[in-house]
Amino acid sequence: MSGNARQPAQSGIGSQPSGQRRFDVAVLGAGAAGMMCAAVAGQQGASVVLVDHATRIAEKIRISGGGRCNFTNLHAGPGNYLSANPHFSRSALARYTPQDFLALMRRHGIGWHEKHRGQLFCNDSAEDVIEMLKAECGAGGVQWRTGCTVESVGRAGDDFVLDTSAGPVRAGALVVASGGLSIPKIGATDLGYRIARQFGLRIVETRPALVPLTFHGDDWKPFAPLAGVSMEVDIATGAGREAGAFREDLLWTHRGLSGPAVLQISSYWKPGAALTVDLFGGEDAAEWLLARKVDSRKQLANLLAARMPARLADAWCEASGLDATRPVHDLPDKALRRLGEALNRWRLVPSGTEGYRKAEVTLGGVDTRDLSSATMMARAVPGLYFIGEVVDVTGWLGGYNFQWAWASAVAAGQAVAENRRAVADRGVDGR
Ligand SMILES: Cc1cc2nc3c(=O)[nH]c(=O)nc-3n(C[C@H](O)[C@H](O)[C@H](O)COP(=O)(O)OP(=O)(O)OC[C@H]3O[C@@H](n4cnc5c(N)ncnc54)[C@H](O)[C@@H]3O)c2cc1C
Repeated sequence: MSGNARQPAQSGIGSQPSGQRRFDVAVLGAGAAGMMCAAVAGQQGASVVLVDHATRIAEKIRISGGGRCNFTNLHAGPGNYLSANPHFSRSALARYTPQDFLALMRRHGIGWHEKHRGQLFCNDSAEDVIEMLKAECGAGGVQWRTGCTVESVGRAGDDFVLDTSAGPVRAGALVVASGGLSIPKIGATDLGYRIARQFGLRIVETRPALVPLTFHGDDWKPFAPLAGVSMEVDIATGAGREAGAFREDLLWTHRGLSGPAVLQISSYWKPGAALTVDLFGGEDAAEWLLARKVDSRKQLANLLAARMPARLADAWCEASGLDATRPVHDLPDKALRRLGEALNRWRLVPSGTEGYRKAEVTLGGVDTRDLSSATMMARAVPGLYFIGEVVDVTGWLGGYNFQWAWASAVAAGQAVAENRRAVADRGVDGR
């Protein structure tokens, strides 16, 4: 990015009076997508103002990945995203890849490592990513308006005018990067959806995703003592095009189930639907038990403990009405078959989710039918763009959401800068 950077103008972060200056682009939201977009547009010659109501910006980057920011995933592709239009993300993801983001990290000397299945984390701290994005904005001469609440958005001719707590901000283009609804206590609002509706764009219904699931107290009682137990499982829900299936770690908690397995499947789960969990990783558990019945003098729970945490093996025997201390060779085949089936197909119906308070992302959002997949611009409103989580593109757990934030931001940043150049070349006012 910063290779063709122009000299920074006033780029310090703070609440500066906007005066009457007109910007080429106003970016609403200084999170992952907003900062990236502002930097790209600024470095390609556009005058950019970045507006955020938070005084401490990019809080979601700061808390992500346990403070180390899982900033991308090497395998990110359209198949890792949920959207009413599964193809929408293809173009942006192909044009700005995880390797492009790694090249940027290298230029800033930020160390990283792969943790698990292509998930890349900072070696030191998520702050490194925030500082990198701030420096890139600086290199693009981006003007900051932080601690600046946007009350509403209006038009002045073809321009957009943000009515903010620091006075009006006028720009030829508006990029909405205000994120989703998750974690309101660190600044999430529905402003992006309201702006979309105001300009006639449709919204795909939103709901919390990548979120712990809850269970009715009575259903959960037998498993409550297992809080803290974790194991890799296959977890699935739904059918047909709406089905989700993952092999991930499942964590038992005091209130229900969590861990990557549940966070992943929560994005596919619909209220009232069941989850199926395979505790045997796809192997036929009944066959496994029957094969061991022949020569094993082990007690049932001890035998199962070869495949799962001992506390879970005990609780499972108890919940199935089987004597955990009974030697396996004493148990009837029928009982072992029933046990095996339950281990392969544990069926649970969650009562709900922990909601936006605990959700990592918001499913749904600005309907992609109303946006260009090449530029993120609203098809019917020239100059109005939506990027990042506010759009109906939601990634799996594992760095995919940040990759979408970067890729959609670069697509829009380049497009607004190109439009500005085209206008300048024609020597007319417009976009
Ligand atoms: C706990 C947690 C951990 C996560 N970990 C990861 C991870 O490791 N890897 C990953 O890929 N994803 C992770 N995510 C998801 C990821 O953080 C988001 O998908 C990503 O931040 C979205 O970027 P964005 O720029 O679209 O929105 P955001 O980063 O949410 O930025 C939106 C910005 O808009 C501002 N804003 C909102 N409303 C207004 C308003 N009315 N006026 C002015 N400003 C406003 C906000 O203050 C904010 O700065 C995590 C999320 C959470 C909550």
